[in-house]
Amino acid sequence: MTRIPMIAGNWKMNTTVDQAVNLVTDMLPGLDAVKDVDRVVCPPFVSIKPAADLLKKSSVKLGAQNMYFEEKGAFTGEISPDMLAGLCDYVILGHSERRHIFGETEAFINQKIQAAIKNLIKPIFCVGETLEQNETGCTEETLTHQVMASCDKLYFFGGLVIAYEPVWAIGTGKSATAEQAQRTISFIRQLVRHRHGDEIANAVRILYGGSVTAANIAELMQQPDIDGALVGGASLKAEDFVSITKQAAEIKAGFK
Ligand code: PEP
Repeated sequence: MTRIPMIAGNWKMNTTVDQAVNLVTDMLPGLDAVKDVDRVVCPPFVSIKPAADLLKKSSVKLGAQNMYFEEKGAFTGEISPDMLAGLCDYVILGHSERRHIFGETEAFINQKIQAAIKNLIKPIFCVGETLEQNETGCTEETLTHQVMASCDKLYFFGGLVIAYEPVWAIGTGKSATAEQAQRTISFIRQLVRHRHGDEIANAVRILYGGSVTAANIAELMQQPDIDGALVGGASLKAEDFVSITKQAAEIKAGFK
C-alpha cells in the first residue's frame, strides 16, 4: 500500500493579507515543482480567498486552520464548512492550541471532523500528549483516548489525515527523535487497525508535527509509518518550506 506523502504548513496567527500573498507568491514556484507529495498551505482565514486565487492553477492545496461544525446561523465569529468548501481541500482540527487555549473537547472535535467530511473537506486531525503525560508514561493512554473519541462514528474514506504532534515539541525547537515519532505513529496506526481494520489502517496518512525543520525532515521521512509533516514555524519561511517538501519527495521516492 503506497500512501502519498504530505507536507502541510500551519501558519497559525501570523501574516497580514499582504504578507500572506507575498509568502504564497515566494513559495509557489518551488512548491509547484515538487512531484508526488501533497503540499498544503494553511494561512489565516482572511487570507484564504487571496491564497486560493494564487494557487488556482497550481498543484498546491489550501487548508484552513479551524472550522465550526454548524452550516450557518447565530455563531458570531465562526466559519462554517459551507464557507470553506470550494476554497479549501483540508482543515486542521483538534490542534493542541485549540484544545488547550480554547478548551476544545474530543466530542466537539468529533462534530467538526464529521462536518468537514460531509462537506468534502479533508480533516488534518491533530493528536498528541503533553510533557507531563509523556513523562508520567501516559502517552499511549492519551492517544488512545484522543483517537478513539474523536474518530468515533468516523469513516476514514473521507480522506482524514492524522497528525501526531507531541505538545512538548510544538514551537519549542525540541522535535521528537525520528525513532520516537515512528514508534508512536506506528502505535496510532495500530489503534486505527484495531478499530477500523487493515484496509483503512494501511491507507490512512499519519504525519508528524513538532519543530520540524529543513534540518530534521529527512530523518523523519525515512521512517516507514511517517507519511509527512505538519510544519508550523518553518512553514513561514518560503525557502525552508520548499526545502522540506523537496526532501520529503526525494526520501519517499527512494522507497519505491
Ligand atoms: C504546529 O503548530 O502544528 C507545529 C508543529 O508548530 P512547529 O512546527 O512550530 O513546532
